[in-house]
Amino acid sequence: MMERSILEADHEVAGIIGDELDRQQKTLMMIPSENYASRAVMAACGSILTNKYAEGYPYKRYYNGCENYDKLEQLAIDRAKALFGADHANVQPHTGTAANMAAYWALLEPGDSMLAMSVPQGGHLTHGDKVNFSGQRYDCHFYGLDPDTDQLNYDAILDQAKELRPKLIIAGASAYPRIIDFMKFKEIADEVGAYLMADIAHICGLVAAECHPDPVPYCDVVTSTTHKTLRGPRGALALCKEKWAKALDRAVFPGVQAGPLMHIIGAKAVAFNEAQEFGFREYQRQIIRNAQQLARTLQRHDFDLVTGGTDNHLLLVRLTNKNITGKVAADLLEAAGIVVNKNLVPNDPLSAKETSGIRPGTPAITSRKMKEAEMEMIGDWMARVIDNGLNSDGSPNEDVLGAVRAEVEELCEAFPIYQSF
Ligand SMILES: *Cc1c(COP(=O)(O)O)cnc(C)c1O
Repeated sequence: MMERSILEADHEVAGIIGDELDRQQKTLMMIPSENYASRAVMAACGSILTNKYAEGYPYKRYYNGCENYDKLEQLAIDRAKALFGADHANVQPHTGTAANMAAYWALLEPGDSMLAMSVPQGGHLTHGDKVNFSGQRYDCHFYGLDPDTDQLNYDAILDQAKELRPKLIIAGASAYPRIIDFMKFKEIADEVGAYLMADIAHICGLVAAECHPDPVPYCDVVTSTTHKTLRGPRGALALCKEKWAKALDRAVFPGVQAGPLMHIIGAKAVAFNEAQEFGFREYQRQIIRNAQQLARTLQRHDFDLVTGGTDNHLLLVRLTNKNITGKVAADLLEAAGIVVNKNLVPNDPLSAKETSGIRPGTPAITSRKMKEAEMEMIGDWMARVIDNGLNSDGSPNEDVLGAVRAEVEELCEAFPIYQSF
């Protein structure tokens, strides 16, 4: 039993993995929180490191037999600190959500107040949404976007912070296409005596490559996922100033989690190393250039981009002028091999299940080495699908979808991924 390959051991699961490899190879993955992890990252995820309990921290474990895990986790910590220039790093959080839970655990008491970006304006569930633990455990208040520009208005956030005097201000978003000015957030936090946390889950790779302003100098705690632009394994990390190191470590373990996922920590170490390699910075720069080219192409086809463009890896497209919902558009695009997610746009009149927008991103297709010329093709196809993908009776136009799908597959073949699998 122990020595069988997955093909021999479980043809059902192996078959599904095979189908998913096919999907990842033959479609354009344009969900901005997704990426293609390297073979080296996946080798660590799929390694024998999954076999061991290592509760505790390096050289302070509750289990015997951890000498290799001590070295491994210390390596991941040292690499994270070097990559981000942080005083302290905790590489154990299983998810971005767990990292945020631990950050609040370290900084706040239940019932304390926080001020963060609301979900309908681009924030994340874990920043105080009432359906999430954060909204139920803390006293949560929200800033939004300027109604005229759809961008952060730091003067308005300062006014709100002065009124509210929150204990914690959170900077960070899941659907915001512009630069976040962490220095301005620090000025606001200082003015009202609040702690400052940045959640850079989406833009982590851009920050690591110095393609986006760095929050680390300004924040008490910085949390991030490792699987989005950073292109590591599914997981997260938390960085903090030295004075929070003990509180943060205690918050992660034993506060929020028990045993760490040591195979994933191994893969995080690999990803932090990849992010220091020559080429990673150029990769992140290309992600932005690709997003900006896609923006220009879509604008040529009369698409309405929230904020008029992008500074980062994603676009927020308001589809109101195209008379189609985000849900219908995303489903049509998927049928044509272009996978994006529907997304609320600022002040969206529709529900989160329908939405008036989509949120395409370029991290994964840039990992395939696609560049500006390919973005023009993709933008043209997106326009063809959204403008002509429905028949007058509302049914999908299979001719249009099929034709685009064939072109998408041809492009994917020209930019292969995971050829050796
Ligand atoms: C993706 C994301 C998270 C959550 O990460 P999970 O790993 O899905 O829990 C947290 N914050 C922001 C801003 C995100 O975009």
